[in-house]
Amino acid sequence: MFLKRVSPVGAKIVLMEQVHGADIKVLSLDGITEKKPLVLKGVDGVFFRKYSAIVSVGIRVADCIPVFILSENKLIGAVHAGRRSIAGGIMELFLSTALDNGYSIESMEFLAGPHICGSCYEVSGAAAAEFAKGTSEEILNGRHLNLYKAMTIRLCRKGIKKESVNLLKSKEYCTFENDRYCSYRRKDKRRSMAFAVQV
Ligand SMILES: [Zn+2]
Repeated sequence: MFLKRVSPVGAKIVLMEQVHGADIKVLSLDGITEKKPLVLKGVDGVFFRKYSAIVSVGIRVADCIPVFILSENKLIGAVHAGRRSIAGGIMELFLSTALDNGYSIESMEFLAGPHICGSCYEVSGAAAAEFAKGTSEEILNGRHLNLYKAMTIRLCRKGIKKESVNLLKSKEYCTFENDRYCSYRRKDKRRSMAFAVQV
């Protein structure tokens, strides 16, 4: 169901209007009765408190990484992971929020959707150096940045096992190289929506 516009019967739909920041909204889904999609403004991540509802979460992406976080096969949140959000510590904030809410490090799995790959994502020398400073030189190849590697390194530093961070599509995931995806850098005018659905 990934990357399709879906609206399962009875699901609570949560959308984000992201701002390339590092804030996360903590949401109690069981208290929501509205049928309309709930739009979270000004945040790049959402964490769901324990819930019994069916939830669908949408992240608007065009090169950044849509990340869906599961615990024991249940969706517990989503993050829009771009350069600024990762540098601002959004993955670590999500992790600490989940731990504070009773989830264990061992139970969490991070699934990354299509995004720009490390070979295609070139930034200025200053931006590359700045980004690597907070993460690791490993994520750099000249002025090219590997967002997925950066996200993985930062999560692993906090105790997440490397095997718990995975790509939803292992081939042809690069948004810049595959025109079935939207890419800001390819100057694609479309805007894409990625969904993870919990049923
Ligand atoms: Zn690429």
